[in-house]
Amino acid sequence: MSPTVDPLLPLSLLEAVRTVDLPDGELETEFVEELRTKRFGLSDTVHAQIRRYHDAVKRGQRPSAEEAAAIARLIGRRPDAEAVFREGGRSLARRTYDRVSGPLRRLLHILPSLFARPLALGQIRRIGARYLGGQVRRVGASIHLEVRGSVTLDAAPRQGGCTFYESALRELMQQLVDGVGSVEHVRCASRGEGSCEWRAQWRAVR
Ligand SMILES: [Zn+2]
Repeated sequence: MSPTVDPLLPLSLLEAVRTVDLPDGELETEFVEELRTKRFGLSDTVHAQIRRYHDAVKRGQRPSAEEAAAIARLIGRRPDAEAVFREGGRSLARRTYDRVSGPLRRLLHILPSLFARPLALGQIRRIGARYLGGQVRRVGASIHLEVRGSVTLDAAPRQGGCTFYESALRELMQQLVDGVGSVEHVRCASRGEGSCEWRAQWRAVR
């Protein structure tokens, strides 16, 4: 069976395209019809695809990883590819954080970090596996995310596609524990290192 991804992954990528392409001022809003034909993110094609992935989320259908990779390659051709990948990662993290139960989210924000961090790690591990197709482990005081089947690998020049996962990890930690330290891309499959890996530090304790 060919590899599949959670539908939230391609959905987040497409929604990021739309967000980045949205008109940002009143002046632009006046020309929105004209923009619709020029900006891919506002096109009927993207709109229809977004609807299709929303349906897939509802039905629990998993699209193929290749389908998500094709979207990533399309984004990778844009001059602002890295910004779109970052927005996509943020968007995926926020969506998955919203699915963490309310009581647990509240707990994470009131517990001292000594207790909150192991709980947060459990969530990062679960979300990383299900939505990013990655493995999360703790190494000393850092969190490592390893992704073997990155759908954004080589989608854009200079490892631009990898920023999708980096940004997802950063935002997820930000949401779960109110802060994150540095996030580094320590290993990259596009440099022939087998898989992509990021190392994130917890934010310094209050
Ligand atoms: Zn990489």
